[in-house]
Amino acid sequence: MATIRRFFVEKAEEETRLTGDEYSHAKNVLRLKEGDELILLDGSGKEYDAIVRKVDKKEMVCSILRSRLSEKESKTPIKLLIGALKGDKTELVVQKAVELGVAEIGVFSSRFCSAYMNDNKLERLNKVSKEAAKQCLRAVAPKVTYYPSLREALESCKEYKNKLFACEFAEKSDVSLHTLSGSCALAVGSEGGFSQEEFLLAKEIGFAGISLGKRILRAETAAIVFCGIAAFVTGELE
Ligand code: SAM
Repeated sequence: MATIRRFFVEKAEEETRLTGDEYSHAKNVLRLKEGDELILLDGSGKEYDAIVRKVDKKEMVCSILRSRLSEKESKTPIKLLIGALKGDKTELVVQKAVELGVAEIGVFSSRFCSAYMNDNKLERLNKVSKEAAKQCLRAVAPKVTYYPSLREALESCKEYKNKLFACEFAEKSDVSLHTLSGSCALAVGSEGGFSQEEFLLAKEIGFAGISLGKRILRAETAAIVFCGIAAFVTGELE
């Protein structure tokens, strides 16, 4: 059975217009035409069944038939903070974190970070988030935010119950990951890792040091594993 295609829109109304990239993809790549069905997503967690009414030069007019709350969204909020990575590794981490149900993603610069961020890269990461959300049938694409410093990134997690800092030089974990419950904020360093001062800063802000074992994992491995562990233990992979 062909998958009904999913598109993000600013606002889902009785009559909704598909514009921009979403319009181009629908019209030029998927060749959607009048009468075709599609699913619209407005980021509220709802899915809207819709039908194409009219295809114009710059927009596709769709009528909404019915809506429902997506059952694909996690109930336990998980926020991933990742140091900016080289090449397209940050995109890989964003894609996997979205598939694992993460609610928010923050990319930060820190002392040993050798990759830089700019508006184009951030826009690209948010596009990767949208595409990954559509692929895994989520109704929400986690927003990717850039934090120019580790402190700002860590302080953005104040409302998270479990604040967990993956530290490559932590002898052991300050808390057990086996008994996690409630929202989780996960911090993972870039290829260069963290400094002792950054580890102390994280503790000061209320993060627990977490060891992910005796081997040194690549940053992207650590980020994906950490999200997987948090999602599994909090029941989001059932
Ligand atoms: N530059 C560091 C070194 O050579 O020791 C390695 C940093 S590692 C590539 C990137 C990040 O992954 C670390 O900052 C940490 O957040 C996480 N990480 C990797 N291995 C880990 C481990 N065994 N325990 C906890 N965190 C780990």
